[in-house]
Amino acid sequence: MAVRLDGRQLATALEERLKTTIAAGLEQAGRPPGLAVLRVGDDPASGVYVAHKEKACARVGITSQGAHLASGTPAAEVAAVIARLNADPSVDGILLQLPLPKGLEEGPLLGLIDPEKDADGLHTLNLGRLAKGENGPRSCTPAGVMALLREAGIPLAGARAVVVGRSLLVGQPMALMLQAADATVSIAHSRTRDLAELTRQADVLVVAAGRPLLIGAEHVKPGAVVVDVGIHRLPPDPAAGPGARGRLCGDVRYGEVEPFAAAITPVPGGVGPMTVTMLLVNTVVAWGRRHGLDNPLADLVP
Ligand code: NAD
Repeated sequence: MAVRLDGRQLATALEERLKTTIAAGLEQAGRPPGLAVLRVGDDPASGVYVAHKEKACARVGITSQGAHLASGTPAAEVAAVIARLNADPSVDGILLQLPLPKGLEEGPLLGLIDPEKDADGLHTLNLGRLAKGENGPRSCTPAGVMALLREAGIPLAGARAVVVGRSLLVGQPMALMLQAADATVSIAHSRTRDLAELTRQADVLVVAAGRPLLIGAEHVKPGAVVVDVGIHRLPPDPAAGPGARGRLCGDVRYGEVEPFAAAITPVPGGVGPMTVTMLLVNTVVAWGRRHGLDNPLADLVP
């Protein structure tokens, strides 16, 4: 039986640390940290994610302000809102919720966010800082994975790590963070030949392929640590009747892998809650930096 890497539990503990950090700096800063969440269009999943993020802000004492633009909004108008938020002294973090509606390109708009307010750590400058080992906001999902591994005491120095997926959102920064922790890292992607042969070498296997139930027993070495970043809703069971929702699953066939892995993240309740927490961490660290406060959260910036 594998150790369960419980993201909900760790996220709750980290929220307590964030509350304490905010309370300790509030007087010197003169205001609480502020996060602006910019949403364009009506992607239903994004609506749910934004609501989660705003609730999490409220729990720890971050002021969140939402801006919701219609799906046909031209890029210039989105850019104008970003410019306003960049200039707003009460905003420490700006999050542009992805995906954007058709017709809007992510890269140029993400590039307009002030890198010091880049709550998602996706600005080119911040990906460069990560590559160079310099301080800066980190991509939330891989930073959340690193926090889970650290909390569980998983040794990374010298370990063989395989990351399945090479997106700029997850796979690439994940590989850089594992490498910075002295793991020997390989990246697999959709053109990788014999995926199972590669993943079976992993002491630590992080799966971010966005393919439901891709990874099974044949891909995992006994005793490996398995982190499942994927999240999907399967079609409902026809026997469940009309209106039933399918269950959530990840990229990993949990039931197959759990009996012989050393540790594994569940879906839901693994990586997802940590992603939200790291958004809060990036915002609180930026707030502290603006006000010359000590940073007690440095261990969470891999
Ligand atoms: P993406 O589609 O941008 O990238 C997927 C990557 O996987 C690509 O690099 C692709 O080459 C690779 N890939 C696809 N099929 C493969 C295969 N058969 N074998 C090997 N590699 C393959 O996706 P993403 O944005 O990186 O997200 C990945 C998954 O993580 C999605 O399910 C997404 O919903 C989820 N996600 C979860 C969180 C969270 O907080 N839990 C956050 C971000 C993304």
